[in-house]
Amino acid sequence: MSTSKAYAAASAKSSMAQTTIPRREPTERDVQIEILFCGICHSDLHTVRDEWASVWPTVYPCVPGHEIVGRVTKVGAKVANHKAGDLVAVGCLVDSDHTCAQCQKGLEQFCASATFTYNAPDKHGTAPVTYGGYSDSIVVDERFVLRVPTNLDLAATAPLLCAGITTYSPMRHWEVGKGKKVGIVGLGGLGHMGVKFAHALGAQTVVFTTSPGKVEDAKRLGADEVVISKNASEMSKHVGSFDFILDAVSADHDINAYLNLLKPDGTVTLVGAPEKPLAVSAFSLLFGRRSLSGSPIGGIPETQEMLDFCGKHNITADVEVVAVQQVNEAYERLLKGDVKYRFCIDMASLKNG
Ligand SMILES: [Zn+2]
Ligand SMILES: [Zn+2]
Repeated sequence: MSTSKAYAAASAKSSMAQTTIPRREPTERDVQIEILFCGICHSDLHTVRDEWASVWPTVYPCVPGHEIVGRVTKVGAKVANHKAGDLVAVGCLVDSDHTCAQCQKGLEQFCASATFTYNAPDKHGTAPVTYGGYSDSIVVDERFVLRVPTNLDLAATAPLLCAGITTYSPMRHWEVGKGKKVGIVGLGGLGHMGVKFAHALGAQTVVFTTSPGKVEDAKRLGADEVVISKNASEMSKHVGSFDFILDAVSADHDINAYLNLLKPDGTVTLVGAPEKPLAVSAFSLLFGRRSLSGSPIGGIPETQEMLDFCGKHNITADVEVVAVQQVNEAYERLLKGDVKYRFCIDMASLKNG
């Protein structure tokens, strides 16, 4: 067993602070990674504060972080695809059973035995639960370690591992591309990646926002058009015209307003998670045989495809890089939506603590 420096919450009420955690020695199939950057996802904050206690209670100490970019420091004897010095990434999953029907299809995100990067039972018994990327190193099964294109900025690459794949995967599944009209609802960490992907995939890209102040930024990110969603007459111009709408809003909102904008057989996919159930009018679905769906992250093969796509099209997240000592402050700003569009921790700062 070795140890790592990490930033952890000791309880739901305590601030994040520096600590030391155990990490396993790499087994034959493991890759040991020096973590260089880790993005801050809203899930980190929910987990740290035990806000998902009813479905996924937090075990403390909690070390969050599942948008990890780093450099390989050591590999096990049977590791074939990674070597010391490689730039690699780890997302929301670090293991699965590798045998079920979903794993066979490369859809590890649907494996009933998938191991999440943090706050999941640790199969190796190193600690009660897995510890995530707010740390200086991590050890991961090679099958869950991804290659990072060398042309991308590393800090801005980290958020691709959750915000990126969460928006890329449903767009690929519902065949977003040339000739399609695609809407993105909400311009935050997820939404801003959705705009970049829809644009790069060649779709006519429309952003819906409640803030007139975000119009220029949405266009800069790749939107062909921006609709102020509070403006009923602007909304009505688009009724029945969309093939696909990605809804990245996690606050309460009227989903029917967006279902009504779909063409026949169009789909709205939720990637945000509002706390309260959404009221869906059957009529919004019946007329036009429309669908309402949801989508979580993506499988390992598709996550690699997404990273390669980003390398080819030079796509990264817009990040504000912070030191690990600024995490508590970053969480408060995240709650106010005060970031364009993702915080990323420079893990070199952990050496100063
Ligand atoms: Zn996340
Ligand atoms: Zn499986």
